[in-house]
Amino acid sequence: MRAYVGLGSNLGDPAAQFRAARIAMAGLPDTRLRALSPVYRSAPMGPADQPEFLNAVVALDTRLSPLELLDELQSIEAIRGRVRSRHWGPRTLDLDLLLYGEQLLTHPRLQLPHPGVHQRGFVLYPLADIAPDAHIPGHGLVRDLINTLPAEQLLRVHDFCWSERI
Ligand code: ATP
Ligand code: CA
Ligand code: CA
Repeated sequence: MRAYVGLGSNLGDPAAQFRAARIAMAGLPDTRLRALSPVYRSAPMGPADQPEFLNAVVALDTRLSPLELLDELQSIEAIRGRVRSRHWGPRTLDLDLLLYGEQLLTHPRLQLPHPGVHQRGFVLYPLADIAPDAHIPGHGLVRDLINTLPAEQLLRVHDFCWSERI
């Protein structure tokens, strides 16, 4: 199944968090990493007294079930030292399962599609870069949803490199 994962970080060297997350996701069982979006810089959602975020989206093809994939993503977050403090507070690495095919799911641990996906610029822009034709059940095509967004401060990080510099 094709799945899209949203990455966010605003603590502990976000660029390094993203590179580590890429390596960890590429190594998941029964899973292939298919695409990496450009990286964007965005103002924090919620509490404003925290550093700005880096955001990106990756495409995975996986045989893991949605909950198995969520478990794997949460263990990557834990390894990267994520501490859950306040809601929408600062974090070293946030991995949201945005879409799992066109599956709809309401489970105490997992909602699909991710409830924020259709209305967040920092999710839709990187998603549109790698999957403009993706369909968000109940909301429409990513390429169309982009046009419904309010203006927002979102800057592409042109010099971001997904590979470690040697
Ligand atoms: P938001 O979900 O609004 O982006 P957040 O990422 O800060 O906020 P977290 O603290 O990372 O929220 O996650 C809270 C809980 O959301 C997790 O424990 C997880 O079980 C649940 N959850 C529900 N749906 C999803 C999903 N699609 N992807 C990731 N986590 C999800
Ligand atoms: Ca999130
Ligand atoms: Ca999350």
